[in-house]
Amino acid sequence: MALKHLFHHAEFVTTAAEWRQLPTDGAPEVAFAGRSNSGKSSAINALVQQTRLAYVSRTPGRTQHINFFRAPSGVLLADLPGYGYAEVPASVRRHWKMFLTRYLVERTPLVGLVLMMDARHPLTALDRQMLDWFLPTGRPVQALLTKADKLTSAEQRQVLEGSRLALVEIYGASAGAVGVQLFSATRRVGLAEAERAIGAWLGAHAPTVPAKKERPRHQGE
Ligand code: GDP
Repeated sequence: MALKHLFHHAEFVTTAAEWRQLPTDGAPEVAFAGRSNSGKSSAINALVQQTRLAYVSRTPGRTQHINFFRAPSGVLLADLPGYGYAEVPASVRRHWKMFLTRYLVERTPLVGLVLMMDARHPLTALDRQMLDWFLPTGRPVQALLTKADKLTSAEQRQVLEGSRLALVEIYGASAGAVGVQLFSATRRVGLAEAERAIGAWLGAHAPTVPAKKERPRHQGE
């Protein structure tokens, strides 16, 4: 698989608010998560090279859904709802927590998680909650320290090193599954590094097939 420009020209395919609405063709899937305002939409738009694609997820009625985009290679990009919105009603939050934890833990085609965190305050309690759920699956995470352009280069080095140390402190050996990097959508920093990391996850899986074609599932996918 060409690792470069992995998600370029991805297109919206579907939206899911519950398990039975998830795509069923078995194509490998990469999930994108982050707090509201973490820069997730900007990061996705930079990776797909389309200025407004991820804002689909802002469409009323779709903000509490997983929105799926398919790249020409067949790979699916799953845009998880931004978390941390206090005003979401408790019943919706409960439904979400159940769907999201099940998605992160049981979703067979999911090859890895890209976690967007504002470089000025990484590893908030909710970010750690996501990692608590996901890391036990043994699948890899790429943490993007977003809006890095707002920091000086000394601050960038500090936050990069600090986040890596904090992850080891919290998760011990499991932190080895988490790649940490600087990212800026506006300055286009870290795009190639993110694509390389995600490409490696996909390279470790069976080659993708053309969109919508059914194929047998393989163990460990
Ligand atoms: P989302 O809510 O996580 O999808 O975040 P958005 O992508 O909508 O970004 C939230 C805010 O951060 C917006 O005002 C963006 O313009 C800003 N932002 C996003 N990425 C960057 C970046 O790389 N650099 C800077 N300086 N601002 C950014």
